[in-house]
Amino acid sequence: MRLILLGPPGSGKGTQSVLLRDKFNIPQISTGDLLRSAVSAQTALGAKVGEYMDKGHLVPDELVIDMIKERLQDEDCNNGYVLDGFPRTVLQAEKLDEMLASVGEKVDEVVDLEVNPEEILIRLTGRRTCRDCNAMFHLTLKPPKQSGICDPCGGELYQRADDNEQTVMSRLEEYENKTAPLKEFYRKQGKLKSAKGSGSMDDIFDRICSLVS
Ligand code: ADP
Ligand code: ZN
Repeated sequence: MRLILLGPPGSGKGTQSVLLRDKFNIPQISTGDLLRSAVSAQTALGAKVGEYMDKGHLVPDELVIDMIKERLQDEDCNNGYVLDGFPRTVLQAEKLDEMLASVGEKVDEVVDLEVNPEEILIRLTGRRTCRDCNAMFHLTLKPPKQSGICDPCGGELYQRADDNEQTVMSRLEEYENKTAPLKEFYRKQGKLKSAKGSGSMDDIFDRICSLVS
């Protein structure tokens, strides 16, 4: 099963893709996480992408495409995966289709998570992330038991460099201009399904599961 989660930044793709990973026992691949790891490991790729990310701009297509191409060749991807944050442009979607077609495969399902921009701003600016396990919290909507400390692993919580109001606004703009057109791209392929992305984590997950076969 090859699944794609679409949706604006802060729509819950990260949370839901992890739940899907566990339910279907397939890897969850987040280009945002891969890029952040490259930045903190100070790889050649990391050196090129940090500035784009901090400004809330998309990283250039060719860098992301090369990175994902490599990741999808790993053995754990043989039985499918859930993609979180990729594709984010029509070019990326076309390249993914080409990549898959060349080995006789295809994207099976695309689920778009719908959340309005006002809610996204609140979600992202209050978000705190664990440095060690990437678990996510929110200052008011989902506070950790102990301030600044991750519940499951005890790691330190931090605010992502791109979760400030100004950068969130740029991310939303990038989404509208470059990523939202993907809905039409997958609608034309007959693959697009939409789920309301507000409510409890479990309700949203149930909605997604009822959409994917
Ligand atoms: P969110 O979905 O909340 O914006 P991500 O962690 O998915 O967060 O992405 C963070 C940043 O990483 C993006 O703002 C962008 O700069 C970069 N990025 C992630 N995925 C892609 C992609 N497919 N194409 C281009 N840039 C990407
Ligand atoms: Zn943690």
